[in-house]
Amino acid sequence: MQNLGNSTVPSLLSDASKRLEQALKHVTISEDAIARLQHPKTSLSVSIPVRMDDGRLKVFSGYRVRYDDTRGAGKGGVRYHPNVSLDEVQSLAFWMTFKCALLDLPFGGAKGGITVNPKELSKAELERLSRGYIDAIADAIGVDTDILAPDVYTNATIMGWMMDQYSTIQRQLCRGVVTGKPLSLGGSNGRDTATAMGAFIVIQTMLPKFQLNPQETTVAIQGFGNAGSALAGFLAEAGYKIVAVSDSKGGIYAPQGLDIASVREHKNQSREMKAVYCQGSVCSIVEHQVISNQELLALDVDVLIPAALENQITANNADDIKAKYIFEVANGPISSDADKILGKKGIYVFPDILVNAGGVTVSYFEWVQNRSGWYWTLEEVNQRLKAKMEAEAENTWTIAKDLIIDARTAAYVNALNRLGTALDAKGTRNYFVKTDK
Ligand code: NAD
Repeated sequence: MQNLGNSTVPSLLSDASKRLEQALKHVTISEDAIARLQHPKTSLSVSIPVRMDDGRLKVFSGYRVRYDDTRGAGKGGVRYHPNVSLDEVQSLAFWMTFKCALLDLPFGGAKGGITVNPKELSKAELERLSRGYIDAIADAIGVDTDILAPDVYTNATIMGWMMDQYSTIQRQLCRGVVTGKPLSLGGSNGRDTATAMGAFIVIQTMLPKFQLNPQETTVAIQGFGNAGSALAGFLAEAGYKIVAVSDSKGGIYAPQGLDIASVREHKNQSREMKAVYCQGSVCSIVEHQVISNQELLALDVDVLIPAALENQITANNADDIKAKYIFEVANGPISSDADKILGKKGIYVFPDILVNAGGVTVSYFEWVQNRSGWYWTLEEVNQRLKAKMEAEAENTWTIAKDLIIDARTAAYVNALNRLGTALDAKGTRNYFVKTDK
């Protein structure tokens, strides 16, 4: 256990493996497969020296973890954040392993990150850092070994630099080594909004099962970045009443509903949520309150969507949650202790590995398009995404109902069955134990 300030927060990876233990009670899987899934396959820590604009040399810490690649090449994003650590990257790679198996994608799980506050760097410094990261991990990645993508505070521009740097090292164009690239460098239509679109499809598939329709459903969203902001847009267009949104600086709340199109426009201009409603025309259109992120999480709404960072709902604040349904767009926003408290309160949680899997699914589509050289329209991408997300949301729901378990455990059961089959197919204990036969 790590002791962070006043609260005791479990190591992310050990907390993540508690979900595995829970799901293992409901699957028949070999001891060998279980043993292998309890450890990351490779964990690489690197130092990245970067020449800063003022001439100084600054050295950053970076990581790349390939958790498991039994079902295919490692697949996972790269995060730039001051809190990035090996433990965080390992747990994110663990989640990617289960997410790719849950969506039945031919990928294993991986993740990367750099401990940095990217907002403090100039664009040129950010580019040198991104290229330096690829120099440092080049031997560990590849089109058929480990494929990168965007995550928190990384974007298409950074993915373009990374693909270009890797191609320079390899002396050939290697588009498929990075997904989430700009369209002009071989990106896929729909990748920028894929996580949000996937989450929207899961919400639209699940809420009717609880007799909820959009017009009568209130929603609060924590995190207004790539995923949270685009999802707010899709939900608002479908008629959901979004009453609160927030970013790292704080949030805004309007019980009668926010005009999301205006919020998105103002956020893009001001780059700060609290400023959105306090200046310009929107201020006069809708009355609102400025609230903290903790207040947002505790709002009495139908649907709560954490779309920022991990460990936002822990044993410390789970009792305050009043939402009836939680759809996890962020990776790991709820700790395993909090899961138990929410379960007792009758709050239904739809897990990250299902809800936010639209991003990696369209990343897979991008990789396929890069390798075939045949590019799809936005309609084709969204149609294929809808088919995949609906199918696995329904599978998860059926498993949850059949085994009388929560949706998170059901999603892990679904993924574990696929992972177990693949791991066993590679050879298990039974091959090596002497028998009389
Ligand atoms: P992003 O960097 O675009 O946005 C993150 C948002 O969270 C920003 O609005 C930021 O201000 C806000 N934020 C940061 N700290 C906060 C805090 N303490 N409280 C409230 N808000 C805070 O990142 P993103 O790509 O939207 O990713 C968000 C989450 O979704 C992450 O957990 C990420 O791993 C997950 N996710 C993203 C994708 C993707 O394709 N973008 C795919 C799968 C999962």
